[in-house]
Amino acid sequence: MTTSPLFYQAGPAMPEVSHGHGVFLWDTQGKEYLDGCAGAISCNLGHGRQDIRNAMLAQLDRVAFTYRTQFENAPAVALAEALVEMTEGELEKVFFVSSGSEAVESAIKLARQYYVARGESQRRHFVSLRPSYHGSTLGALGLTGYQPLEAPFVSITSGSIKVPGPDFYRQTDGGRDAYIRRVLDETRAAIEVAGGDTIIAIVIEPVGGASTGARLVDKDYLEGIRRLCDEFGCLLIFDEVLCGVGRTGTWFAYQQWGVAPDLLTTAKGLGAGYYPVGALLCREAIVETVMANGGFQHGHTYAGNPLACATGLAAVEAIRREGLLDNVQARGAQLRQGLEALQSRYPWIGDVRGLGLLWGVELVMDPVEKTPFPAEANLYARVTALAKAEGLLIYPRRTLNGLAGDHFLVSPPFTISESETELLLERLARALDRLDR
Ligand code: PMP
Repeated sequence: MTTSPLFYQAGPAMPEVSHGHGVFLWDTQGKEYLDGCAGAISCNLGHGRQDIRNAMLAQLDRVAFTYRTQFENAPAVALAEALVEMTEGELEKVFFVSSGSEAVESAIKLARQYYVARGESQRRHFVSLRPSYHGSTLGALGLTGYQPLEAPFVSITSGSIKVPGPDFYRQTDGGRDAYIRRVLDETRAAIEVAGGDTIIAIVIEPVGGASTGARLVDKDYLEGIRRLCDEFGCLLIFDEVLCGVGRTGTWFAYQQWGVAPDLLTTAKGLGAGYYPVGALLCREAIVETVMANGGFQHGHTYAGNPLACATGLAAVEAIRREGLLDNVQARGAQLRQGLEALQSRYPWIGDVRGLGLLWGVELVMDPVEKTPFPAEANLYARVTALAKAEGLLIYPRRTLNGLAGDHFLVSPPFTISESETELLLERLARALDRLDR
């Protein structure tokens, strides 16, 4: 019999949180933690922000909830305009939801309805990468290329055609260009087997998160994927639930490679941890087609409510007002340097990769062969526990399908200072020293 009625995951007993301020959290025993992963890569502005609290209270005093089919609300319109502006007008329409999975679910359904409306209902397949993570609801899980999560549900999700994503760390002979060509050829071959005219969309995380430990794509790769979409007449969807809204130093990660999608999902950092807000952004022509043919048959009760959108708007305004994208880049460069210094100290740090304030550290048993540690070593869990003991929170994962091993994300709030970044690196170094012994 457990003492708490809550159940989430097996694991050691957790401390009880007391309060948070800035990049720090404290438990009820008075222990301090530096939030090196912004909760779940969501608390982009840190904890205890008075400006966000005040914006939320002001909205609560007016009205907390109205239903999107009964009233338009000013914060929703303003937040939608802000999101469109972040894409520099590339994506013109916004559909609000309350989570990343809901955003992905909405993208799946909008894209499918688009082709049904165009009389192309033979299009029924999505193409996604292995590994990848797109969410926990059955549609989003169907796109997810992460075996331990997929396995129990393969027979009841709609699934997708899984193709290998680029893994520049494990890329072998032939050079980068040849490697990208090979990955793109495999993608094309998988599409051709299914039939090009059965594909709805290719779905990609420009910077992988939970499943890949911040693996990056590449300009040539994204351009190749865009060409495939255009050739087969299907859509390109970027899942920026984790890497969007400034995390990589630009409003959206795709902007660093200059290849725009047709639909984009975002969530996590949009509400900055203060309220759940997610969004699907898309090209106007897609929405027009769907709306002219019976409308979008989809929605969630809490989507786009005034309190959610006022919170998101306050968060976006804070990033703008405080010039935080510049800090993401500056602190990101500092973090990279520090993580690379740790990599040169420990041979089992195989790879350090990322952008802005989204860094992945991959741990390998053999740095030459790049072989992962055996699952029983439970390395990712041990590193996380040691870091926590040193007062540092990191975001760990292990991919159990042989494509990648143990890794963790370092992704602190955008507000982290230079000295706090040093402290983060010091605490991480102490944890890794203990692992080494
Ligand atoms: N897509 C990506 C890329 C994600 O990282 C996540 C969450 N880790 C999701 C979708 C699902 O988001 P949520 O947990 O808010 O449903």
